[in-house]
Amino acid sequence: MGIGVASLNTKITACNRCDRLIDYCKDVSTRKKRMYLDDEYWGKPVPSFGDPNAEILIVGLAPAAHGANRTGRMFTGDRSGSWLFEALHRFGFANQSGSYNREDGLILNNVYITAVVHCAPPQNKPSREEIANCNLYLQEEIKLLSNVKVVIALGRIAFDNYIKALKNLGYNWTADDEKPIFGHNLDYRTSDGKFLVSSFHPSQQNTQTGRLTRDMFHGVFEKVRRILTN
Ligand code: SF4
Repeated sequence: MGIGVASLNTKITACNRCDRLIDYCKDVSTRKKRMYLDDEYWGKPVPSFGDPNAEILIVGLAPAAHGANRTGRMFTGDRSGSWLFEALHRFGFANQSGSYNREDGLILNNVYITAVVHCAPPQNKPSREEIANCNLYLQEEIKLLSNVKVVIALGRIAFDNYIKALKNLGYNWTADDEKPIFGHNLDYRTSDGKFLVSSFHPSQQNTQTGRLTRDMFHGVFEKVRRILTN
């Protein structure tokens, strides 16, 4: 199974289906942000990462232009990532809370991280077509990550597109076929027998305005731990 996700990640990294995003990633990596002028930006599709035997799949939105598009690892080197990895470490799903670059020693425990799109989009807004292009990779991951029991969707777009991926794979919305509603720390039983937990995204827009607090975010991982131990 590990080999399956490894070759999928190789395919993702070499993907060039979305011209606009590929150009943007390259452009950002040559312009750079002043504080990262000495960094060599990744500047291409960012692969998923984590434990291929994980029971928890986390679906984010997209790499940040100067975060994962710079470091080459999902959620690494930006403020959303510092919230996410702090929470994962607190609940025993990561060996450290810091995440700076691909060689920082971070190891995820029982967690695999992917995103709706693997290329950084301008203004963090991928188009419908770009999301549809990349949804094929999410479908592949759902098939390959056969130990997953709980999926955490970070933000409404991740939530909607995880469900879309399930539908594309032939599953109904949920076990009772009701369309799930997005909200913070809600959980659903999907018709493939897994749990889907929705969370507000730990974006700066949410964390700086107090829409998402640390306690609220930790509540998601408390719930996930409870689901896995029951
Ligand atoms: S967003 Fe996904 S489908 Fe589009 S170019 Fe990047 S990896 Fe390929």
